[in-house]
Amino acid sequence: MVRSKTLCLKALKLTRNPVKVLIFLLIAVFVFNEYLIYVLQRWTWPSLTPSDSAARLPEDEERILFVADPQIIGVHDTHINNQLLIYDADRYLATTFQHAFNYVQPNIVVFLGDLMDEGSVANGPEYDLYVQRFHQIFSTSTSHVKRIYLPGDNDVGGEMWDDRVPFKVDRFNQYFRKEELVKSKFIDIFTFNYNVGDAVNVKMEARLQELMADSAAPFRIIINHMNLLSQTRPEFDRLITLTNASLIFTAHAHRAIMYNCSNCRDPEYLDALWDGERFLMKTDVIYTLNLGVFSLLHEIVVPTCSYRMGVANMGYGAAIIDRGGLVRYVVLSSPSRYRCLMLYGAVLVIVLLFLVATATLRLYKLCWVRGSLLVLRQRSVQSCCLSDSGCSCLA
Ligand SMILES: [Zn+2]
Repeated sequence: MVRSKTLCLKALKLTRNPVKVLIFLLIAVFVFNEYLIYVLQRWTWPSLTPSDSAARLPEDEERILFVADPQIIGVHDTHINNQLLIYDADRYLATTFQHAFNYVQPNIVVFLGDLMDEGSVANGPEYDLYVQRFHQIFSTSTSHVKRIYLPGDNDVGGEMWDDRVPFKVDRFNQYFRKEELVKSKFIDIFTFNYNVGDAVNVKMEARLQELMADSAAPFRIIINHMNLLSQTRPEFDRLITLTNASLIFTAHAHRAIMYNCSNCRDPEYLDALWDGERFLMKTDVIYTLNLGVFSLLHEIVVPTCSYRMGVANMGYGAAIIDRGGLVRYVVLSSPSRYRCLMLYGAVLVIVLLFLVATATLRLYKLCWVRGSLLVLRQRSVQSCCLSDSGCSCLA
């Protein structure tokens, strides 16, 4: 009882100094929004360490971090305060990426395309600026990590009115894409730039056969920006048949999706709709796949890591693959930036209301004191006049 009284008194004292309240609230919300929330979010991520990890050597597992659709904002974005938006979005991407990178400790980082929102339509100097910003955001201190970059429709065109033309593809390859086949320990990764409506022509088929002649790993993975199993079987069949791929990773949809196809390797069903399941994946839940079960074909769609793509769940994909072909995959969720911005707005409204209330109270007090003084003065004048026969005391 005494303690609560003391607290009430302290709170009352604090309200006498609105500046202190304002500073305290702003600092508390700033620390929460800019630092604490990322640490708290990390606590929701499951452990990536399998139970037999003690006996496992680093060369017995691949640790891959997937980054999808960051779409760093361009200079032509018509938002009312573009520079502030760019700063906020870049900082969010850099912070969430560093947390995910430190958590996964990958030996490969795969960027699944749509790296730049306006990459496809940028002129030379703008493109240079975007590339520079991109590398600043997704910088890593460790040099031994392999980085793989894929182009998306926002980088080289290929969707709606924005055509994918050789100039754009060449420019992207010049800055980012180095290899079509990436070898790492016991997996080979085929990096595709395969779009909806593309066909595997003679040239591409010959190139794939060349790459396959160089591929000796027990497991092969396809990575592509556009989804493959969302299309009809004839559109992606040659890619699967020629590469004998065990697993596909894609992006573009902004959501976390899993496709499990049970008849995609069966030539009998080539012209039919493929059979299997498609479902939205949960964040922070570990899914396990066995690449040894070759009859099943899986495609994992990695969600966007940007908070500006109109989806509620953002994050990074993390896959741990062991030498036996067991895959542990999880979407590491990122905090909602819009909720943080709403919290800033709510605090601002509270502070403004507080200031208005305080000012009104002070004004009221001032009027009350002046009114009281006036009454007292009038009373003293009246008593003075009543006591004297004349009103000489007024002088
Ligand atoms: Zn895309």
